[in-house]
Amino acid sequence: MLNSGYETCIMCGKDVEVTGLSNCDFTDTDLDTRPCGLARTIEKNCAHYCPYCGYASFSLEKDITIGNKEILDLDEYQSIVKMEDLNVDAKKFYLIGIIFKHLNEFQKAATSFLRASWFFSDVNELEWSKKSRDAAISEYLKSDFTFKNERSIIILVDLYRRNQRFKEAKEAIKKFNLDNFKDLETKSIINFEIELIEKGDYSVHKVSEIEGAN
Ligand SMILES: [Zn+2]
Repeated sequence: MLNSGYETCIMCGKDVEVTGLSNCDFTDTDLDTRPCGLARTIEKNCAHYCPYCGYASFSLEKDITIGNKEILDLDEYQSIVKMEDLNVDAKKFYLIGIIFKHLNEFQKAATSFLRASWFFSDVNELEWSKKSRDAAISEYLKSDFTFKNERSIIILVDLYRRNQRFKEAKEAIKKFNLDNFKDLETKSIINFEIELIEKGDYSVHKVSEIEGAN
């Protein structure tokens, strides 16, 4: 459910009007887990942005830097904050990605960059969408969890494919080993990914396109 209100930014103390979501748990549909329907567009409200100081968080009243506020002063962070033309819905997820990256929270950073890529593509900021996918890939590769989890591999492979990094997509599948896809749905998704990679297809696809999925 969407609800509007104010949050007091924990970083600068200003009140910011935000639209929040009481529930951010969605079912998956694109190959990279992007949800469908209404959830596809309202998920952007899961994160908030303070226009006064550039803090991005799931709640402006919570310090997701867990006391490492200097992350927000980094050039890497501030250079994005200063890009005022950048779509704020996508930008806030990119900024959260930078925060988690510096906290060595690789999976969280990766999923934030992944979300940034979705919202950049929605507003046709294709270079930024691509850049966000590259950032997500880098974070997935830093995490030991990625190569132990079928779902993470599916997302990693899709990110590679979308960025036309087909060779690396194939290498990731080989490294994980096709036999390690135990779940029927992920197995059908990875086989579909292999088909798309062979065709050099780097567009968005849905799980519903796969015969026998779900
Ligand atoms: Zn602020």
